Amino acid sequence: MNNVSHIPSYLSAEHLGPWETFLVQVDRVEPHLSPDLRKLTPILTRPMRALIVNVPIRLDNGEMGHFEGYRVQHNLARGPGKGGIRFHPDVTLAEVMALSAWMTVKNAVVNVPFGGAKGGVRVDPRQLSIAELERLTRRYTSEIHILLGQDKDVPAPDINTNEQTMAWIMDTYSMNEGRTAMSVVTGKPISLGGSLGRKDATGRGVFVATVEAARHISLELSGARVAVQGFGNVGEAAARLFSNAGAKIVAIQDSTGAIVNPAGLDVRAVKAWRHEHGTLQGAPGAESVSTDDFWQMETDVLIAAAMENQITAANAGHIRTRIITEGANGPTTPEADLILQERGITVIPDVLANAGGVTVSYFEWVQDISAFFWTEDEINARLDRIMREAFAAVWDSAQAKGIPLRTAAFVLGCERVLLAHKVRGLYP
Ligand code: GLU
Repeated sequence: MNNVSHIPSYLSAEHLGPWETFLVQVDRVEPHLSPDLRKLTPILTRPMRALIVNVPIRLDNGEMGHFEGYRVQHNLARGPGKGGIRFHPDVTLAEVMALSAWMTVKNAVVNVPFGGAKGGVRVDPRQLSIAELERLTRRYTSEIHILLGQDKDVPAPDINTNEQTMAWIMDTYSMNEGRTAMSVVTGKPISLGGSLGRKDATGRGVFVATVEAARHISLELSGARVAVQGFGNVGEAAARLFSNAGAKIVAIQDSTGAIVNPAGLDVRAVKAWRHEHGTLQGAPGAESVSTDDFWQMETDVLIAAAMENQITAANAGHIRTRIITEGANGPTTPEADLILQERGITVIPDVLANAGGVTVSYFEWVQDISAFFWTEDEINARLDRIMREAFAAVWDSAQAKGIPLRTAAFVLGCERVLLAHKVRGLYP
């Protein structure tokens, strides 16, 4: 990765991965910004603030467990911090910095009134009991309490966190504040002020963005071959929606392996199998293949809904598909982007493709603050409209400027953020 001009000196070399990717993406935006906004881009190249917290918890065996957590507010120019909390053994400060920066751009691309933030705890949640996970979540929430609030910073689910995690965060924050504060977190259970449609929202946004791209490149989605990498909340919902629309889910890959069926997998049956057996292997109507075979399968659409750094210089040359939709954050490295561009593959970037989740988080926040709840049809209709409008803005700008969709999305998002800085001015 050459031409990276803004690597902050306080980062150690081995943790530069996703943050360095973000910096390269900002570098690619700069030539397309007006001179007055270009002058402000250094603001984006470091987070506004980052908190590292120690998270000691009582384990079930009476011993103490020690974990490290982070909450990074990358930019608050356009509104309160917004972004998920991830529990994963590989979480690092640099990763959370990158994820928070992508939230800044994403929130601006879909024009929801939020800045970008993200949190994480470096933990393997599979090694903890439910009671231990609850204590971990509550202690972490207490440690980052100083940053949180409906008009300060509003977390949400991410990898390995869910509605229950959000309920514990809401309860911990509320008990420490001495009031019930529903709007401090989104992705909550419906019974606690959660929004209808939130659970499927990211997958639904992935689907809507792909439908729009398919229309532009004259790809018929009915009967199209779709491969899904990552079978968590995002990948599963997207697979279900594509399948309902008449597409064939020909391959699914997750951390337990890869399965294929050229005639189309039964998504519900695979989900039930995965739930019961903890693995994709042996799912009904499926043949197991290697990860290499998965990446080399010929498809029309590939949904990358797992983690960062999945599509790299090593596999980008072998992927045979027409559209890659990034359900995950940061699945494609900058080098892979160049390879895919050269090969004419349409990449719908994360900051656009997976923005459906935070869009319905915004609806949840609005509903909680106004204490007035919408129907699922209203939510889905508004989500579809926002996704289609954001897609059109990015697509049209990419065509007009002759640039990839990722750069066009970054230009749109960064312009909105930097314009907010420009009109707010510098203070103190
Ligand atoms: N974690 C999700 C994302 O990466 C959702 C964030 C939110 O709803 O605040 O976009």
